[in-house]
Amino acid sequence: MKALIYDGGLKMAEIEKPSAREGYALIKILYSSICNTDIELIKGYMGFKGVLGHEFAGEVINQESGFYGKKVAGEINCACGKCVMCDLNTPKHCFNRGTIGIYNYQGVFADYISLPEENLHEIPAGLDLESAVFTEPLAAACEIFESVHIKPTEKVFIFGGGKLGLLIAQVFKLNGCDYTLFTRSAEKTDFAAKLGLNSRRLSTLDPDEKAAICVDCTGNEKGAALALGHLLPRGTLVLKTTVAAPDKIDLNAIVINEYRIIGSRCGPFAPALRLLKENLIRVKPLIAKTFHFNDIIQAFDYASKPGALKVLIKHF
Ligand SMILES: [Zn+2]
Ligand SMILES: [Zn+2]
Repeated sequence: MKALIYDGGLKMAEIEKPSAREGYALIKILYSSICNTDIELIKGYMGFKGVLGHEFAGEVINQESGFYGKKVAGEINCACGKCVMCDLNTPKHCFNRGTIGIYNYQGVFADYISLPEENLHEIPAGLDLESAVFTEPLAAACEIFESVHIKPTEKVFIFGGGKLGLLIAQVFKLNGCDYTLFTRSAEKTDFAAKLGLNSRRLSTLDPDEKAAICVDCTGNEKGAALALGHLLPRGTLVLKTTVAAPDKIDLNAIVINEYRIIGSRCGPFAPALRLLKENLIRVKPLIAKTFHFNDIIQAFDYASKPGALKVLIKHF
């Protein structure tokens, strides 16, 4: 089968088609999309080498699978089921996990992938596959609400008007809280406003404007320090950014102001699929361009441009 390999450079290669062992499903990838994490991986994040890609919608094609013939999205952490973290029912923190297209597991920029059935979620009827590709990043946005109690009366600053920031802001909007999405460029602010989001240019933010919850989803190594600087005492900083070269933040400020710092990664798929199915989150406007899988190297060039929105890959 064809796959996009990263081994210091990006190249299309012919590799062996995976087979589905017991408890696994063989999935034909129909759509995938390029995430900021993929762009960071090709800058050296995680030291990953292999088949990239973790956001997808596909169809299960092995008849032995209970999901046979179904369209599915898949959670990206593949757990061992045996370690302490698996025993604690937190498979996403399994000590022996593979994370598809990120760490020790083949990615979805390929014709097929084999995944544990426990990772799969059926894409509900009526939800189109291009929207379903957003399940994984939208689940990451929902994860904030798993980790932090955000009151609808609270003031929230969200830093970063990229793909994830636009999803996170939409989820916060549904909560009813007083949120503002801060973006660097005027175009991003206008774009967010067209999506119905409360957005401002970062340059209009005064140093003494502060919020109870600050979310860094800038995708930038300076984002955490920026967000920390606008947090009220006893406030909560939510970190969603992973970068190849993280910057320092002021630990004294955390002690003095009694801040809470929440790291937040992958999230629950079921609520994300419900939000998409019920049309509560606008994802279609976030698609910048769709490339065919054969042109995925050009797609990476396009997705790497600063400010690029979601690039989708069509595999059929
Ligand atoms: Zn991602
Ligand atoms: Zn485990």
